[in-house]
Amino acid sequence: MRVVSIPMRTRFRGITVREVALLQGPGGWGEWSPFLEYPPEVAEPWLRCAEEAMAGDWPAPLRDHVPVNVTVPAVGPDRAREIVLAGGCRTAKVKVAEPGQGIGEDLDRVAAVREALGPHGRIRVDANGGWSVEDAVDAIARLDRAAGGLEYAEQPVASVEDLARVRRLVDVPIAADESIRRAEDPYRVRDLEAADIAVLKVQPLGGVRACLEIAERIGLPVVVSSALETSVGIAAGVALAAALPELPHACGLATVQLLTADVAGEPLLPVGGALPVRRPVVDVRQVEELAAAPDRIAHWEARLAAVRALREDRRS
Ligand SMILES: [Mg+2]
Repeated sequence: MRVVSIPMRTRFRGITVREVALLQGPGGWGEWSPFLEYPPEVAEPWLRCAEEAMAGDWPAPLRDHVPVNVTVPAVGPDRAREIVLAGGCRTAKVKVAEPGQGIGEDLDRVAAVREALGPHGRIRVDANGGWSVEDAVDAIARLDRAAGGLEYAEQPVASVEDLARVRRLVDVPIAADESIRRAEDPYRVRDLEAADIAVLKVQPLGGVRACLEIAERIGLPVVVSSALETSVGIAAGVALAAALPELPHACGLATVQLLTADVAGEPLLPVGGALPVRRPVVDVRQVEELAAAPDRIAHWEARLAAVRALREDRRS
């Protein structure tokens, strides 16, 4: 196991440095990068995703490139415009409902994104469950106007029940993210008709094949999204997006550029708004340059041991 520590370009999801474990198997490298606060039972499916990659056990691709969105963190309008113009993507995902900010900042950011994207690009917003039902209904209507039409609003509220309520009160399509990957039962979203779109992330949901099965059973259009991985982890998301029977929306996999460095010689970065379907080649020298401090490596080795111990417990 190798552990790398990579500074983020912009604070995202409350973190400024991304720590990632890379594991090599007979079928290639796998990434295991559960966020640091996650306990073993949450980090376990993330390891299954790495193991699937290490075995080289991915389904055959149905397409050779995957359209992606540019991600705009909770930055000011000038920076938002720059990010969209630099990205070359036709779809932008804009972070809203950031703790400590208000709807005014969200409206300004979304308006700046529309200006930079032009009239034909798509804009989606992600609130990470940050609103109440009442606030969500108000905010979605106002953001829809500021954007000149939203493609969808992702996880406006935290619970599946509230998601279903909001969906019945607004015209904008609703996407479920945390309500699928953090839920005991991802199919409650389907049973309560709580969303129009399912956001799937390969690491938290246990790998590419596990996500393909969820996609089939949940019966909603899928957007494959990242968990801020390096190119090694992004390749697993690309493998899922490439294997889905239908892919009507751009995916949230263009996030390698949120990191200041990568472990692949040729990182999985978008060209013309799409990612190529390929497995990146890990550059071991870069892995060494980005190596985490010895105490952090020890921490990850302890985490891995804890996940394996949990599996042993479950077996016995
Ligand atoms: Mg999300």
